[in-house]
Amino acid sequence: MPELPEVETIKRDLEQKIVGLRIDGIKVFDKRVIQNKNINVYKKYLVGANIERIIRRGKALIITFDNHWHLFVQVKMTGHLVYGKCLRQHNETTETKVVFKLSNGKFLNYNDHRTFGWLYLVDNLNKISYLNNIGPEPLGDVFSSKWLMQALLKRKSSIKTIMMNQHFVAGIGNIYASEILFAARVNPQKKANCLSNREVSLLYSATQEILKEAIECRGTSMRNYRDTNGEKGIYWNRIKVYGRQDEQCFRCRKTIVRIVQAGRSTFYCTHCQKI
Ligand SMILES: [Zn+2]
Repeated sequence: MPELPEVETIKRDLEQKIVGLRIDGIKVFDKRVIQNKNINVYKKYLVGANIERIIRRGKALIITFDNHWHLFVQVKMTGHLVYGKCLRQHNETTETKVVFKLSNGKFLNYNDHRTFGWLYLVDNLNKISYLNNIGPEPLGDVFSSKWLMQALLKRKSSIKTIMMNQHFVAGIGNIYASEILFAARVNPQKKANCLSNREVSLLYSATQEILKEAIECRGTSMRNYRDTNGEKGIYWNRIKVYGRQDEQCFRCRKTIVRIVQAGRSTFYCTHCQKI
């Protein structure tokens, strides 16, 4: 599933490509993708509206229009926003579920071959429960070393599970949680409230460094993720532990292990990340 760096890449691309443009038409080929309104409502409020800004919050995108309507986009596992030509003209079978015609003659396609993601149209962002319940942005002002120290004291779950909890901090998923903990040399099974001040401080710095580096690399493409040009992100080149079970640790040459925490795979080095 795309995490913060991948969704931030999409957001920055779309900012360059579609802000300022008008929606000239919408075609919905799969009604399951548009969650809360029917196609006529989408047409009524979006056709003729200008795209004013794009915001990322956690792993979600918000496209805001000059008439104050917002299109909330959760790409989930398999959704992609692809800018350029129209990828679906007729009712042929294809992964393109929704097509927005733009005023510059180009198109914004919402592709999703498994239909895990969705679009949600609202006139008030308070109506989106995801946004009401999400933790601070890890690259934002609230998330600091001091904040992290205080917040972790109240948490008894493992630090890996907490770092992936969207109510705790926004946008970090399985890949970057494993990478951040390796960079900080923190054992993923350690209880969140048992980290030393030094470990919290390293965890904070690693979170900043890893996420910023991954954004520079335009994210990680393991299986499905593609940017708005349909291209892969190159951070997979820099991955140190995720998916590297039984391979050598780049730091100490010991073997990377895989364990399961809260139903998800965790990869770490037992030598570099001692409990
Ligand atoms: Zn190691």
